[in-house]
Amino acid sequence: MGKLHYKIKLITLTFVSTFLFIERSLASGLAAQFENIKNSNTTLLIYSSVLISIIFILYLIAVIKRFTLKKKSNEVLKNEIEKHKKTAQSLKISKERFDLAMQGSNDGLWDRDLIKNTVYYSERWKSMLGFSDSEFANDVKSFEVRIHPDDIGKVNSAFHNHLNKETDFYENKFRIRHKNGKYIWIHDRGKAIFDKEGIPIRIVGTHTDITEKQKIEDELHQYQAHLEEKVKERTKEYFEAKEKAEESDRLKSAFLANMSHEIRTPMNAIVGFTDLLTDPDLTSDQKNELIHHINKNSNTLVYLIDDIIDIAKIEAGQLKVNKTECNINQIFSDVFNSFIETNNIKENSPVKLKLKKGILSDNFTINTDPVRFQQILINLIGNALKYTEKGYVECGYEVKTDKHNSFLEFYVKDTGIGIPEKKHKFIFERFSKVEDSKTKLYRGTGLGLTITKNLVKMLGGKIWLKSKEKEGSTFYFTIPVEEFKGQIKNEKEILDDSVKNWKNSTILIAEDEDSNYRVLQMALRRTNINILRAENGQQAVDICKANKNIDLVLMDLKMPEVNGIEATIEIKKIRPDLPIIAQTAYAMTEDKKTSIEAGCNDYLAKPIKLKVLISTLNKYLN
Ligand code: ADP
Repeated sequence: MGKLHYKIKLITLTFVSTFLFIERSLASGLAAQFENIKNSNTTLLIYSSVLISIIFILYLIAVIKRFTLKKKSNEVLKNEIEKHKKTAQSLKISKERFDLAMQGSNDGLWDRDLIKNTVYYSERWKSMLGFSDSEFANDVKSFEVRIHPDDIGKVNSAFHNHLNKETDFYENKFRIRHKNGKYIWIHDRGKAIFDKEGIPIRIVGTHTDITEKQKIEDELHQYQAHLEEKVKERTKEYFEAKEKAEESDRLKSAFLANMSHEIRTPMNAIVGFTDLLTDPDLTSDQKNELIHHINKNSNTLVYLIDDIIDIAKIEAGQLKVNKTECNINQIFSDVFNSFIETNNIKENSPVKLKLKKGILSDNFTINTDPVRFQQILINLIGNALKYTEKGYVECGYEVKTDKHNSFLEFYVKDTGIGIPEKKHKFIFERFSKVEDSKTKLYRGTGLGLTITKNLVKMLGGKIWLKSKEKEGSTFYFTIPVEEFKGQIKNEKEILDDSVKNWKNSTILIAEDEDSNYRVLQMALRRTNINILRAENGQQAVDICKANKNIDLVLMDLKMPEVNGIEATIEIKKIRPDLPIIAQTAYAMTEDKKTSIEAGCNDYLAKPIKLKVLISTLNKYLN
């Protein structure tokens, strides 16, 4: 401040003295003009003085101007220095902040010069991959070779998309190989710098190690996918169950309507033909024909009832199989012959029945349930004949082996109406029928294949079909070849139903139902056997105690007070050798087992066939 005052004072002094000098010069010049007007030297002196004064003033102005300028530039410089200091300070703060942020985020930094194709990786960037600063070369290649081969494509495309200005930022997630050989997940982010022409010259970015996060995310994704899968599965199950319930409902209604029809039809025939039998004018041939129809329809009813019982047992999980020695060829021939007989199949019939045995030996036996095996064959061959108008029905089997076991593969092939592909799965459902009632009404309850499928399963096999509508069907099923370990019976039991005379024998019929008793009484009339009757189990025991001459008991199993099983046990206690033959309307294979275990010698299922009755009694009475 002091200096400034001094300078201002000096300038003022110089200016005042110059001004006074000029003024004096002018004044003295004018005086000289008046006094020595003709003296030209004086005039020259005056002009010279004026000129010198002007030059001096100009110089003075220049000095002042320079001085002012210098002062100004000093101020600008000072301001610049101040500004620079501030910038440097804020740069320092900013760098500190950035370094702190980088350290805090634990991210690695990379900086790539796109013109020189050089790159800088921060220490953290390298340590993320397990390398020290000196261990990892600062070049692009060293980075690129470590990227997972499956990710290299997406890394390159994201990078180039950003350099082509298609994205505002470069961002990517990829796997990169750590020094230890394992892959880690990186979240890579960056931004490019472009020159005036829009050419990218540099790109800077960061690496974040997201391996743990990615692991959790992957697990979450997996869990989510698993959950979604579960939800899908459950939804599918729910809809299937719903559909099944609806289908089952529909089938049940169809079954009830159908069942009524299936029962009434044979019943109608039985009632009608029985009425006709009362006509006294009938010839014996006419009577025989009526009896044949009554028999046939009665059998239909019995099969229907058997099916209903079987299906009820399947539903209750009570269907049992009794495996024993089973002569496959024998059963095949029996079933085959009985179909030939009942369907009256001849050489010129529109439908032929063929049989192809896989093993020709008559003694070939396996361990399975012969009753159930026969039932399967009857169902399949019965269906094939029912649904075939012309052509043939062929049944047979082959021996096959898979990795572990041998099995028999049976087939029943027909050239009938066939089954549309979409119904293949459905026909094994209970009550299901493929409706084709427009052309012909096929009788049936829709239970046969359900029972068959379950029986095959219980015998250890499986069942399937190949069929085309209007071309025919082939049903296949397998039965494992299990060796029969028990005693081998080669001889087939032959029914001896020739006329007998048992006038010296006595039989006790334990039967509570009058009509059933009457049937047996009439059936045995021709044998002249003496018949006693008990109406319940207790009476049967008492009569056996009182009559030592009883030779055989026909024991109904279901009777009031004391049932047939209990009565058998009691009778066997007093007369262990007295033959007792169980007869039951339950017609279940387990009943046979229970009655034999109670001591019964044999078993007859109602309705009892005359032939079977006579031949069974014959075994014990002679
Ligand atoms: P049904 O007593 O009605 O014959 P099944 O359970 O034995 O009952 O058969 C179910 C349905 O499968 C039948 O109603 C029929 O539509 C179809 N089906 C079974 N076997 C054959 C076959 N060999 N050819 C054509 N259709 C068949």
